[in-house]
Amino acid sequence: MATILYGKAVAEAMKERLAADAAALTAGGVTPTLAIVRVGAREDDIAYERGAEKRCEILGVAVQKFLLAEDAAQAELLCVIEKINADSGIHGCLLFRPLPAQFDEDAVRGALAPEKDVDGITDGSLAGVFSGSGRGYPPCTAQACIELLAHYGIDVSGRDAVVVGRSLVIGKPVAQMLLARNATVTTCHSRTRDLAEKCRRADVLVVAAGQRGLVDAESIEPGVVVVDVGINVDAAGGICGDVRPEALEGAAAYTPVPGGVGAVTTSVLAAHVIDAAQKSASYEKGRL
Ligand code: NDP
Repeated sequence: MATILYGKAVAEAMKERLAADAAALTAGGVTPTLAIVRVGAREDDIAYERGAEKRCEILGVAVQKFLLAEDAAQAELLCVIEKINADSGIHGCLLFRPLPAQFDEDAVRGALAPEKDVDGITDGSLAGVFSGSGRGYPPCTAQACIELLAHYGIDVSGRDAVVVGRSLVIGKPVAQMLLARNATVTTCHSRTRDLAEKCRRADVLVVAAGQRGLVDAESIEPGVVVVDVGINVDAAGGICGDVRPEALEGAAAYTPVPGGVGAVTTSVLAAHVIDAAQKSASYEKGRL
């Protein structure tokens, strides 16, 4: 029988320490605060925003929302980012992407102050992931995959990890983070030939393609650990991942969708905000 890697258990395990850290900061006069910047009203953004707000509330992290219209101008958004950068009461920023087509996304993400980049969107934070310097925060979803594996005691060292997807949000950073933990990593993408054959090499298979049913039974070797990051809508209008449910029968362990990686991501986000607030508080103390 496969072990189901529920995200809720991971979030619960993180809760006590995070809530205590947030409470200590607040008692010392610094309320850890997250700015959420959303342009437009995409359903998936709003669903994630709701989850993030709920998790922040549970942990004692304040949230300030900056909502812009779908047809907002680049200057307007840059103005919001500048405001967040200048506000010492805000410790981290979540910016929903992709942005509508009129925006130069690289310019927008590059404008965020590095110390407030709690979701690994700036080049500086990504460089930290790739160099292993520990500078900056990795993208929350990529880190959530790693937290989940660690929580369930799944050691990737020396094992073959296959990552499907190469986005800067998940695929590339998670591949680097697995490599840093001594896995032998293969990264696949839309031009990969014979994806099923690559997937069958995996001891640990991370799928982040956003393609419902992409990974089928033919791609799964018995005993594999599957982390399904995909969020798709199924034929009945429900949420499903990238891996077909029937493919998971022989797996040693797998994350459910929903209830897997997504349930950990918002805890990682809150953890980064609390850490950023701690750093900002000790910097301020050092200046006195
Ligand atoms: P992107 O669309 O940015 O990237 C998808 C990646 O998958 C690309 O690298 C693409 O390859 C690859 N891909 C697409 N089709 C195939 C295919 N047929 N075979 C192999 N590779 C393929 O998506 P994201 O990385 O932003 O998100 C991936 C999924 O994760 C989505 O479903 C998203 O909703 C979900 N997600 C889940 C979160 C969570 O907390 N659980 C948070 C954020 C996202 P190429 O580069 O060649 O185009």
